[in-house]
Amino acid sequence: MSDTTRMTATAIAAAVRGGELSAREVASSALNLIAQHEGELHCFNVVTSEVALAQADAVDEKIARGEDPGPLAGVPIALKDNLCTRGVATTCSSKILEGWLPPYDATVVTRLIEAGAVSVGKSNLDEFAMGSSTENSAFGASKNPWDTSRVPGGSSGGSAAAVAAGFVPIALGSDTGGSIRQPAAFCGTVGMKPTYGLVSRYGLIAFASSLDQIGPFSTTVTDAALLLEAICGHDDRDSTSLRDTPTSFVGPLAEGIAGLRVGVITDFLSDADPLIVTAVRDAAGALASAGATVDEVAIPELMSGLAAYYLIAPAEASSNLSRYDGVRYGLRVDGPDVAKMNAETRAAGFGPEVKRRIMLGTYVLSAGYYDAYYAQAQRVRTMVANAFNRAYERFDVLLGPTTPSVAFQFGAKIDDPLAMYLSDLYTIPSNLAGHPAISVPFTLGEAGMPVGVQVFAPALGEQAMFRVAKAVEDAQQAGCRGPVELSAGASR
Ligand code: GLN
Repeated sequence: MSDTTRMTATAIAAAVRGGELSAREVASSALNLIAQHEGELHCFNVVTSEVALAQADAVDEKIARGEDPGPLAGVPIALKDNLCTRGVATTCSSKILEGWLPPYDATVVTRLIEAGAVSVGKSNLDEFAMGSSTENSAFGASKNPWDTSRVPGGSSGGSAAAVAAGFVPIALGSDTGGSIRQPAAFCGTVGMKPTYGLVSRYGLIAFASSLDQIGPFSTTVTDAALLLEAICGHDDRDSTSLRDTPTSFVGPLAEGIAGLRVGVITDFLSDADPLIVTAVRDAAGALASAGATVDEVAIPELMSGLAAYYLIAPAEASSNLSRYDGVRYGLRVDGPDVAKMNAETRAAGFGPEVKRRIMLGTYVLSAGYYDAYYAQAQRVRTMVANAFNRAYERFDVLLGPTTPSVAFQFGAKIDDPLAMYLSDLYTIPSNLAGHPAISVPFTLGEAGMPVGVQVFAPALGEQAMFRVAKAVEDAQQAGCRGPVELSAGASR
């Protein structure tokens, strides 16, 4: 049997659609690699081998009947474990959802199955997607396949690690403040957050509803565009879902970047690690050589985004997480009355970071503090969006680092929430504005760890964003992206 684990999604789908590979063969290859290395990396909360083989067989049967198996025919995918999957445990890496089996699939999951993808498992995350390292998972952290003493980033760390390990060519994550792009940068994969409303959030377990978006992980920009095509588009089941959006992202990649105006955000270069700053400058140079017009732009308002996010996101989380009360879902710890049962359930079911966010969020929404914190944060949010929009009068896309540093060691920031929060300094502004952004592996930095460069675009500017991301990728240093060689890489 051929080993298909280092193929791109584009190549697998073409081979399966063309009858050169069966979907079952591809699924078995992925499941074998996972069986060998999952113990070292802990990418998954559950590996769904039977589901995967059944979905693969369904694709092979469609092909045998002469039907179109879809654009992702036979492509293995990992699903972040905050996406509802019918009859398959969905935990958000929290004890509070223990034993809960969703009665429905998220819209993105339904669309992936229609597109022919094969889901191999539910990937690990920081509990309720709150964190930047997966160390907040109730089920243990995922490891970075480049160096298992380092975090894969978070919160979608399991998805990023699964792609970087070559377990799957593509994965889904969710990005509320950077949870796709930051782990993508840490693991040497592509990771993209779409425009708010481009991808349905129906069946994504809510963290901060005005910020959450689902998006792709992949090894190449083309695969990210292909995956986004499969999951985007209007959905009546999500009231924030946009209508009449662009839906084609792979085709426009061929247009190149001649004439596009790129602005390098200088505010993001003052505190980043020097090798990361050099990477951004080199990427900007490569874009200029490829025909773009490159200039610098100062957008100091963006630096206030982090503070506003850590008021708005906890406020929304405190509201969203009030539904976990021991009555309807998952864990219940009994008490002498209902209020005590609620309290005991939450005390036992939520981890320390989730409790911190709920308390912070409840505080900033409380009478007497609302104006000073929550309302003020909303004003800063508007200021960030306006500042981006002013920059987009002069530029088609913006460029900057994804993270201030490369992947850090386990334990380095877990006892210092503020240091952990600062990992998202450069990713959060796009969430506040609702804009798309993508992280592309560009080079190796400190300790030989991958460095991601981030391309930002205005709302629904995905096509230009992908074109520029492809040009960044075309200039990337060899060996800076996954999949890594596991036998050597995993124990480095
Ligand atoms: N790390 C950020 C947080 O902890 C972002 C998380 C996310 O995007 N889900 O809130």
